[in-house]
Amino acid sequence: SHRIMLGPLVAAIDQGTSSTRFLVFNSKTAELLSHHQVEIKQSFPKEGWVEEDPKEILQSVYECMERTCEKLTQLNIDISNIKAIGVTNQRETTLVWDKETGEPLYNAIVWLDLRTQSTVERLINKTPGRNKNHLKHKTGLPISTYFSAVKLRWLMDNVDEVHQAVVSHRAMFGTVDSWLIWCLTGGKSGGVHCTDVTNASRTMLFNIHTMDWDPELCKYEKIYGLMVSIRTLGKSDLIFKNFFNIVLVFVMQCERLIQYVYVFYLKNKQCLGDQSAALVGQMCFQDGQAKNTYGTGCFLLRNTGVKPVMSEHGLLTTVAYKLGRDKPACYALEGSVAIAGAVVRWLQDNLGIIGSSEELEKLAASVGTSYGCYFVPAFSGLYAPYWEPSARGIICGLTQFTNKSHLAFAALEAVCFQTREILDAMNQDSGIPLTQLQVDGGMTSNKLLMQLQADILCIPVVKPSMPETTALGAAMAAGAAEGVSVWSLNPEDLSEVTSEKFEPQINPEESEFRYARWKKAVEKSMNWET
Ligand code: ADP
Repeated sequence: SHRIMLGPLVAAIDQGTSSTRFLVFNSKTAELLSHHQVEIKQSFPKEGWVEEDPKEILQSVYECMERTCEKLTQLNIDISNIKAIGVTNQRETTLVWDKETGEPLYNAIVWLDLRTQSTVERLINKTPGRNKNHLKHKTGLPISTYFSAVKLRWLMDNVDEVHQAVVSHRAMFGTVDSWLIWCLTGGKSGGVHCTDVTNASRTMLFNIHTMDWDPELCKYEKIYGLMVSIRTLGKSDLIFKNFFNIVLVFVMQCERLIQYVYVFYLKNKQCLGDQSAALVGQMCFQDGQAKNTYGTGCFLLRNTGVKPVMSEHGLLTTVAYKLGRDKPACYALEGSVAIAGAVVRWLQDNLGIIGSSEELEKLAASVGTSYGCYFVPAFSGLYAPYWEPSARGIICGLTQFTNKSHLAFAALEAVCFQTREILDAMNQDSGIPLTQLQVDGGMTSNKLLMQLQADILCIPVVKPSMPETTALGAAMAAGAAEGVSVWSLNPEDLSEVTSEKFEPQINPEESEFRYARWKKAVEKSMNWET
C-alpha cells in the first residue's frame, strides 16, 4: 500500500475537565486527520468538592496518543510527519507530587472546587477594606476559590503527605500542563518542571506585568520555595530540550508504540491554557476580537493586545498568549462562567432526566420554552461578573405544569443568560459592543443552544465547522515554535474555513423580558440564605 503524501503534521494534547483528546492536523489546510478522545472521571467526595485522578489523566494522554497514531497508520499516513506537539489543558486545577517517587500526593483539585471558600473569606477579611480585588493590580484576578494558590494552600494545610513533602523539599506543585510535561519528559528521572505564562497567570501567584512569580504574593501564601523551581515558558530562555523523551516514555508505557520510537523528535514545544488556545485557534489575534467556549464552564475572552486592561465590571485580566520568547505578551479580558456543560452532566448523573448530553437538545426542543422556569446553576458559587462564592443553585418559577422538558430548556437558557451577563460586562468595559460572537467547545454541537444564544444576545452567533479550536490553537502554536509554517500565516488558506451562523429570531423586547427575569433569579441565588 502506498503512503499518502502530506505536508508536515502538527498535533495537540488537549487535556480538558471532562475529557482528554489527542488530535493531528495537516499544517497546510488545518484539516483534522485523526483524533481520539477519552473521558475523565470526576469525583465529588464532599459537598462542593471536585477531584480528578492525576494518574488517570496521564494514562488517558498515552491512550489517546496511541489510538490516534494507530488510526493514522490505518489511513496510510506516516506518523513521522508529525513535526510538533502542543499541550493545552484545563487551567487552575492543582496538583502536588513527589519528585523522588513520581507519585501524586493527593488527587488533582479541580478548578470548580469550593473547599477553599473559608480560606478565601479569611484572605479577603485580612485585606484593607475587605476588598476581594486587593491583588488585582498584580494578578488581574479577584481573590476566589477558582485559582490555584488557595487550592495549594489547602493541600499544604490539610494533607499530611503534602506537608511532609514540602518540608523535605520533595514536593512539586503544578497545574495539569506541568504534571503532564514533567511526566512526558522523564518524570522522576529528570522531568522538566515548567509551565507557561497563560497557565501561570491563573495561579494568583504570578505578576502579569513583570511576567514572573511575585515574591510578595508567594510570601502571602508562604509558598515561594515551591514556585521558584517552576520555569515559565515564553518568559525565560527555557528551550524544551527534553521533549523528545516523550518517545521513551511512550515506549515504556505502551509497548505497541515501539514502532514509533523515532517519531517525536521535537526540539521545542508550546503550551497554552485551554482558553488561550481556543483564542488562538479562532484566529483572534487582533485587539478587540473575541470568542466564547462552551465546555464544562463557559469562557468569553476578548483580545486587548499588548496592554493589560483592568475591568470595572467583574471580568478578569489574563495573559492571552506569548508566542515566542521575543514576542510580546498579549492580554485578554475574560468572563468566566463556572457551570455550563456541567449542568448537562448534572441533569444526566444526578437527576437522570437524560441518558446522554445529546438527548438534552431533543428534550428541550420538545417544548421550546421553559414556561417561566429559571434555573441558576450556581453549583460552585457564581464567577463573573459577581465572584460570589456563597451563591448556590436555584430553580424558580415552577408550577404544577412544569416538567423535565421545561427544566432541560431552562438549563440551556441558563448557559445563554450567563454568557449574556459576561458579554454585557465586556461591552461596558471596552465601550465597543461585539457585533457577533465566535463560539466553540463541546456544547456548541447543540443547535438549539446556539439559536437560543443568538436570541438572547440579539447578535449573530458564528461557529466554525471544525469545532476543535482549542487543540487547533495549541497545534498552531507548537507548529510555529518548530518553524512549521501554519495555515494561519497564509490568508488564502483561510478561505477554506467554513462556519455556521445563527441569526437572532425573536424580538429584542422578548429577549429583554426573559433576561430581566433571569437577573431576578440570580439575585435570589446570592441571597437565598438571608
Ligand atoms: P471540557 O473542555 O470542559 O472538558 P468540552 O468542550 O469537551 O469540555 O465539552 C464537554 C461538555 O459539553 C460536557 O459538559 C457535556 O455535558 C457538554 N455537551 C456535549 N455535547 C452536548 C450537547 N449536545 N448538548 C449539551 N451539552 C453538551
